[in-house]
Amino acid sequence: MSSKLGISCPHCDTWATVRTSEAVSATMRIAYFQCKNIACGHTWKAHIEVVATISPSAIPRPGINLPLSPLSETLRIAVAAISDPRQASLL
Ligand SMILES: [Zn+2]
Repeated sequence: MSSKLGISCPHCDTWATVRTSEAVSATMRIAYFQCKNIACGHTWKAHIEVVATISPSAIPRPGINLPLSPLSETLRIAVAAISDPRQASLL
């Protein structure tokens, strides 16, 4: 996992990065964070979970069934309306 992934430290709000991580499953990892503020020094672990699909994979893995995100459904409907010749153009 890239060390550029980060979040704010829950104690001091300084940027913290992932030092290492381990796979729990195809959709879950445990990431170990380290606060960059040397006066704080907080380290913690967090779950990173794949929770929804925004754009479907072209090579889906059997057994991975993720819900389509609401944003993705909104975009699909908008694209379908634009490409549907029965829809009148408003432009
Ligand atoms: Zn901190």
